[in-house]
Amino acid sequence: MKTYDFLIVGAGLTGAVIAQALTERGKRCLVVEKRTHIAGNVYDEEIDGIRVQRYGAHILHTANKRVWDYLSRFTAFRNYNHAPVANYHGEIYNLPFNMNTFSRLWNIATPEQAMAELERQRVNLDREPKNAEEQALSLVGRDVYEKLIRGYTEKQWGRPCSELPAFLLRRIPFRLRYDNNYFDDPFQGLPADGYTEMVRRMLEGVEVRLGVDYLKERRSYDAMAETVIYTGMIDAFFDYSEGHLEYRTLRFEDERLDKPNYQGAAVMNYTDRETPYTRVIEHKHFYHGEQPYTIITREYPTEWRSGTEPYYPINDERNMMLLAKYREKAAKQEKVRFCGRLAEYRYYDMDDAVAAALVLAERLTL
Ligand code: FAD
Repeated sequence: MKTYDFLIVGAGLTGAVIAQALTERGKRCLVVEKRTHIAGNVYDEEIDGIRVQRYGAHILHTANKRVWDYLSRFTAFRNYNHAPVANYHGEIYNLPFNMNTFSRLWNIATPEQAMAELERQRVNLDREPKNAEEQALSLVGRDVYEKLIRGYTEKQWGRPCSELPAFLLRRIPFRLRYDNNYFDDPFQGLPADGYTEMVRRMLEGVEVRLGVDYLKERRSYDAMAETVIYTGMIDAFFDYSEGHLEYRTLRFEDERLDKPNYQGAAVMNYTDRETPYTRVIEHKHFYHGEQPYTIITREYPTEWRSGTEPYYPINDERNMMLLAKYREKAAKQEKVRFCGRLAEYRYYDMDDAVAAALVLAERLTL
């Protein structure tokens, strides 16, 4: 008999939920994590009393009550309504696109006026849009595209919008209400003591080994458990036999400033093309910090290379074809299950990652 029922590779949200749910059902679990900390990309840490989100701003929002109730077992939630602002060459606009944005853009006051201006500016194509630029122009017209979408999208993807696929901007949500709350979901908040603490509580009673790269010690770890749950990169699992899946990544640059308030918002998007970063996060505003100093992080989108953190999958034709090949291989692995944003090569919000992990844990114990 093996020492563990399950070896779980990765101590991110997916791995932690699976480990917690299986342990609760009486299964013996071992979690291995190649980083030196738990919580994966939702990891945060306190620096001089300010909770800093290390891998980009994370706001939990969901319509899934089951997920919210599940996470509430491990944390209280602090009320937080996400209301980022856009900075276009020093002009400030509210996001998501709403009546505050439109009234500032066009000096109008009513939804009818906003609709009329959008209609006037929309480009009518009598065919499908060929690229992201055409797509955006047909949905929201020139002003919103030029000031609030174009530069940001081009920096994010590293290519002109005219060369990006239309599907990237197929949905450009806007609302005709004076309402800056970014998410429509009924549940929204931040873990009162941070994400890392929430994940630590999930993993209480579970054996976790940090600094272990499963792929480098696969044989010995496989021998310890009946089943492996793998939440790392699917192409890495197969030693890139079909080629590398591509990602966009981010470089984070932190700065501590001796002033109490740098930008007055947790997140400011720089939507012009010239500013080299896309966003500035001012961490203290997530938790309404009152310190006389502040910590900010600038986010620079960059091309992903082997060895850098993979953040956003690029779901174009080439990568989806590669993924299909890897999925075929994965389906043949009797002992291994693949779950999470890297193993499934898809952008998962946290609530979707938790929901998928709970479903897998249930299936594994039926
Ligand atoms: P990860 O967090 O990546 O965890 C996988 C873990 O596996 C990692 O810790 C990794 O080190 C480990 N691992 C990989 N390979 C190995 C190996 N060979 N051996 C051992 N360990 C290994 N979601 C929201 O809901 N709201 C947000 O506001 C939000 N903002 C985001 C901002 C950014 C910049 C990014 C990139 C994502 C954001 N997300 C957000 C999504 C959120 O980060 C994911 O839903 C969540 O992290 C998924 O967890 P995961 O466990 O699947 O992946």
